[in-house]
Parts: sequence; structure tokens; C-alpha cells
Amino acid sequence: MQKSIQNIIQEAKKIVFFTGAGISAESGIPTFRGENGLWKNYNPMELATPKAFKENPNLVWQWYEFRREIIRKAEPNIAHKTIVKFEEFAKTYVITQNVDNLHNRAGSKNILELHGNIEKNFCSVCGKRYDFIVFEDKLKAPICEDCKGFIRPDIVWFGEMLPQGIYRNAIYHAENCDVCFVIGTSGLVFPAANIPISAKKHNATIVEINLESTNLSEISDFFFLGKASEILPKILPQMVN
Ligand code: NAD
Repeated sequence: MQKSIQNIIQEAKKIVFFTGAGISAESGIPTFRGENGLWKNYNPMELATPKAFKENPNLVWQWYEFRREIIRKAEPNIAHKTIVKFEEFAKTYVITQNVDNLHNRAGSKNILELHGNIEKNFCSVCGKRYDFIVFEDKLKAPICEDCKGFIRPDIVWFGEMLPQGIYRNAIYHAENCDVCFVIGTSGLVFPAANIPISAKKHNATIVEINLESTNLSEISDFFFLGKASEILPKILPQMVN
């Protein structure tokens, strides 16, 4: 007889949450495809590249300021907060493709950000860090105080490598976890999508939550169709005092 998802979680020693843009959709942060309004004539795939920043740093900076404004007004939702509660059952690692800092604001302890963090920046020339600084001029890419190079967001742009230490660490936890949740991601972006694939190869139970079936559904042992904020609290086992 197949064990219940609650039993599997209660027996797990290590749980990985692999999350994507869908988990933050209910916090009001749009996925790229749904974006409209002011930026409807721009394609994020063309703005989030080293080439775009080289050619027009101010335009790219404005795009990130636009996104930061949405993200700073947003709050972590029930799904982000429920993940924190899983820490009571097992060692828990959040491996996220999101750059919105919401897992951190929700209180998760062990977070691996595969694609960077929109609140962090560095000089594109000398590498000096400018993390969690609010720049006043929203229209112009700021200039490094040391070398006068342009400061850029610490985001992994299309065509760039993932931070290798973080990626290696993420693969390590995927290979060593008992349960891997896959939440709100289409699973189309590689190498990030290797996380659940590695977990599966090492016999973890894969639990997917999404509004539709995805590229990763065929490796899922459990698939829950619906919103992450509605499904996750139902999966969280009751605490036994
Ligand atoms: P994606 O846009 O390719 O896929 C989003 C997935 O979430 C879809 O499969 C959709 O069905 C699902 N979804 C939407 N609402 C949901 C909900 N309430 N509950 C459960 N599932 C829901 O996102 P991706 O796979 O993360 O890849 C896009 C890339 O863009 C990533 O690299 C990501 O870093 C970046 N991005 C990040 C943010 C953010 O930080 N919040 C926002 C937009 C894009």
C-alpha cells in the first residue's frame, strides 16, 4: 500500500523545496508571461542579458526598479510561510529560482538562491558589493564609488553561469533529501531544473504543486493541482505534542 504524503514527511530527515515564480504569484508578483502595462513592449528575455546592460544600462536598471517596486510592496504568502513550518519536521532547504527575497522575509533558514536576489547589487567592473541599498535615482544605473563602473543587480542573466558554489550545494542537498517539493515552476529553465531530477535519481519522493502539469510532472510521485497557498497547508502534517 502506498504511504500517505503525511507519513512520508513525518519520516523524512531532509526536505528540499524547489520553488519558482508561481509560488510568489499569489503575493502579487507577476510571472514574466503575465506582465503588461508600462513594459508590455519589452521582452524580459531581451532585457535580462549582459548584452542589454552593456548597450543600455539605464533601461535595464529601470526594468529592475519597476520590478523592485512591485516586490517591495508584496508580502510573503501562506505558501512561503507554510514552508517555514516544515522545519519542525525535518532539516529543510529552500532552493529557489526566484529573486524576490520572499522566502527570506517569510523566515526560512536555509535558502539557496540559484538566480540571485533583486535586493543585491554589485559593480559590473570591480565587483564591489552594494547589497540591500535603496538607490534614489530610479532612472539611471548607479555608478560605483570606487571605479566609476556601472552597478548591476545580482541576478543571473540569460547566458550567464549560475553561482557555482550555490548550485553545487543545491545538487548536494537534492541528492541527499528524502522528499523534494516542486512548487510553482514550469521546470523549463536549466540547469535549475536538474534539482528535482537529481533528487529523483537518488530515490527522493517528488511532490509537485502547480496549476497545470509541467515538464517535471512525469518524475513526480505526487501531483497536487491547485494554488500552492491552498495545497501546502493541507499537506503539512499536524504537530503531535
Ligand atoms: P514560470 O513562469 O516558467 O512558471 C510558473 C509556474 O507556476 C507555471 O507552471 C504556473 O502554472 C505555476 N503557478 C502559477 N501560479 C501558481 C500558484 N498560485 N500555485 C502553484 N503554481 C502556480 O516560472 P519559473 O519556472 O520560476 O521560471 C521563470 C524564471 O523567471 C525563473 O528563473 C525565475 O527566477 C524568474 N522569475 C522570478 C520571479 C520572482 O522572483 N518572483 C518572477 C518572474 C520570473
